[in-house]
Amino acid sequence: MAADKDCIFCKIINKEIPSNIVFENEQVLAFPDINPKAKTHILIVPKEHREGLSVLKEDDVALVGKLMVSVREVAEKINLGSFRVIINSGSDAGQTVFHLHLHLLSPDGFMF
Ligand code: AMP
Ligand code: ZN
Repeated sequence: MAADKDCIFCKIINKEIPSNIVFENEQVLAFPDINPKAKTHILIVPKEHREGLSVLKEDDVALVGKLMVSVREVAEKINLGSFRVIINSGSDAGQTVFHLHLHLLSPDGFMF
């Protein structure tokens, strides 16, 4: 799926908006949340635009798998011991950016 021209996370992925990239591979990008809710608050996003969990199909299993596996890769890279993961789906549940993303929250600090 092509990038959505109005999507802020697609702009971050395409480097049109700068971010402090924490982790990147072919499928995913991770960067700090601009409004952190924990000592460490990283967003992990698939590079391919999907609006969120509510639109995923069977064809997206690989994309979601890569996203989930990347949690460990990010956590290892920045030395997080404990963490939790949240995905909001729908505006009533707090989703404000309609590009699938996972919140990685940890009481542990990290250095870039
Ligand atoms: P959600 O509310 O689950 O859709 O999460 C969207 C998150 O994106 C929020 O926690 C925002 O603080 C964060 N956010 C919005 N714009 C940016 C940005 N330019 N860079 C980093 N994080 C952002
Ligand atoms: Zn997008």
